[in-house]
Amino acid sequence: MSVRDIASQVASGDRSARSFVEESLAKAKDTEAYYALLHLTEERALARADEIDARIKNGETVGVLAGVPFVVKDNFLAFGAPTTAASKILENFSAPVQATVVEKLEQAGAICIGKSNLDAFAHGGSTENSAYGVTHNAVDMDKVAGGSSGGSAVVTALDVVPFALGSDTGGSIRQPASFNGVFGMKPTYGMSSRYGVVAMANSTDVMGCFARSAEDIALIESVMAGRDKKDMTTLPDYFKPTTDVKPGLKIGLIKETMTDDVDSEVREATSQYAEKLRSLGYTVDEVSLPSVKYALAIYYIVVPAEVSSNLARYDGVRYGRRAEGVKTLAELYARSREEGFVTENKRRIMIGSYVLSSGYFDAYYQQAQKARTVLINEFNELFESYDLLLTPTAPTPAFGIGENTSDPVKMYLSDVMTVPASLAGLPAISAPAGNSKSGLPIGVQLIGPMKSDALVIAVAGQVGGSHA
Ligand code: GLN
Repeated sequence: MSVRDIASQVASGDRSARSFVEESLAKAKDTEAYYALLHLTEERALARADEIDARIKNGETVGVLAGVPFVVKDNFLAFGAPTTAASKILENFSAPVQATVVEKLEQAGAICIGKSNLDAFAHGGSTENSAYGVTHNAVDMDKVAGGSSGGSAVVTALDVVPFALGSDTGGSIRQPASFNGVFGMKPTYGMSSRYGVVAMANSTDVMGCFARSAEDIALIESVMAGRDKKDMTTLPDYFKPTTDVKPGLKIGLIKETMTDDVDSEVREATSQYAEKLRSLGYTVDEVSLPSVKYALAIYYIVVPAEVSSNLARYDGVRYGRRAEGVKTLAELYARSREEGFVTENKRRIMIGSYVLSSGYFDAYYQQAQKARTVLINEFNELFESYDLLLTPTAPTPAFGIGENTSDPVKMYLSDVMTVPASLAGLPAISAPAGNSKSGLPIGVQLIGPMKSDALVIAVAGQVGGSHA
């Protein structure tokens, strides 16, 4: 059922919030084998549902999302369960406050029923880097869920909940959305608050959502959007959902994302999507974004640099797990970090520290930031002639569990289509675009200029797509 339908049934008293929450909790338990959820927030969710039902009985007004169950990626601070970021270092960490976007959704009446699995600290593209087990793809248990927000994508695809939250630093909402056949939206940088979400890379982190329709995405994003004085990078609320798209839209298909390296079925699905856009009366031309070929290299310098800085605070003293039986402070730091981080976290700390160190700062970090500016300028130039850009979301459908774990660079290649929009702060949605012959979902990505979130979502909604 859609977000809107649930909210209207609850508000009209046709069905209780409690019954929806109970249904979601039961589905969550039935689908435990997917390892999509790390914790349920059952007690708190049922109490909140009863509170909403009581208010409706009393004739009080309730929010636009009253009684709608949802799931939150476990790097968002939320009450009712620990916030682990799927890492051991935050194993028993209880949030002292809630993330602003979670608060906003709750104020609108939505009810968080659980926390979803992710790559530890959101470092990864398959949810295989979780310290608590691998999430399985919603369509094929032998395939990865994608990542890092794999758990949130899977619970949305399996209809455990009508929507789920994710964070997207380089593709962590869009890529798992494409692997599981749902919609996933990464808003413009700063459209909604990052406050209360475990930071990965501050210059690209954004909070967004998964849903089974573009309409639901628009509704959820409209509740989350807006200025937050606790996050000075947030923009004043500009997001106005619409279904009214101007005729004759011009869309550029980025040719560098349609080369022979890309899976042929993915290219085929993207071309078919382009045809659907044409049949809506839009122009789709091939365009070039030459710096796409540098995007991964830029991303894997800039992001580890920010990661190494953000993870410095986890020292075994201030947050979470503290190593036992140590004799010195240095040993306490070293052992807590050794035990608390997964290999991929350590790899990024090392790369980040390296590219920021004196002597290498100019050679790597500074160069990467310059190249990032070139990429941003290329995007801006394209947006002078085009309203939106189209690419596949990922070069392949979901790959096998274990297939890429021994080769980090192979794993990073899965991000090649999603990192450009992240580096430029642009809004981008992944929309379902059919299935491979073996039945695996394929997604395409629509990217717009900054603050064109409503257009991006509206066009994805016009094309629609096979709901999971
Ligand atoms: N897969 C990308 C990475 O590993 C994206 C992660 C994310 O967006 N959090 O960095």
